[in-house]
Amino acid sequence: MKLKDQGALVTGGSRGIGRAIVKALAAEGAKVAFVYKGSQQAAESLAAEVAELGGVALALQADVASLEEAQKCAERAEKEFGRIDILVNNAGIIRDDLFVRLEPEAWHSVLQTNLGGTYNFCRALAYTFMKQRRGRIINISSIAADHANPGQCNYAASKGAINSLTRALAVELASRGVTVNAVAPGFIETDMSEAVRNKAGDLIKKMIPMRRLGQPEDIARMVVFLAGPDSSYITGQVMVVDGGLGLGAAPV
Ligand code: NDP
Repeated sequence: MKLKDQGALVTGGSRGIGRAIVKALAAEGAKVAFVYKGSQQAAESLAAEVAELGGVALALQADVASLEEAQKCAERAEKEFGRIDILVNNAGIIRDDLFVRLEPEAWHSVLQTNLGGTYNFCRALAYTFMKQRRGRIINISSIAADHANPGQCNYAASKGAINSLTRALAVELASRGVTVNAVAPGFIETDMSEAVRNKAGDLIKKMIPMRRLGQPEDIARMVVFLAGPDSSYITGQVMVVDGGLGLGAAPV
């Protein structure tokens, strides 16, 4: 077990990619606190599932867009586990629309949740990580940061900013034994991508050189790598996990 007895905090753990990350970290021995916003039942079932397998998972209800709530989550997780070594900023939303129709509310809610949530949890734990001279921060970005899609100005802006934040924070924390990296998923089969999958049908698989959609576990494996000892000399990087989608090959 590569993460035995380490404390981890994962945002957006109740569903999709975050859920797989919680399970994968727990399977490697980490004690995992995870944040959810509205999916209480899913959160409770995840905590029970992890416990059944002999792991530790603590569900915390909060809105990542609030710094105060982020600080409370960090305090609670630290109190529960003694220390936190790993932070995964995964919670995210989409509110797609063409820019000329994009309402301020859709712009602000995506920026506040995706980018603001990442800032809030980094802010809540960065000083602790510096003091303990140990910590791993892993931000979930998207290939949408670098590959433009119509209707995603708000989402792309939030993910591009997360990549920039990742690099800048990595430079500040590197000498204190803290690494900061991002993971940029391609098309992953979750609730978030359902509408696009339904609309695009088979075309999506034709655009992906590996000819399959990604699964949440594909992302969770990269997160475990970045959280574990094998990545100790990697910081400030955006690791793309997309089956080759971002290579831009013509669909066949
Ligand atoms: P889902 O919609 O399946 O799950 C989102 C998770 O985030 C849920 O657990 C949800 O909790 C939580 N969440 C959303 N808003 C908040 C909030 N304000 N406060 C706390 N928790 C919140 O999304 P995915 O699993 O697909 O996406 C996870 C991450 O991966 C996101 O950052 C997304 O941008 C990124 N990503 C996803 C891709 C994909 O194809 N699916 C591709 C590229 C990147 P609850 O249900 O309790 O509200």
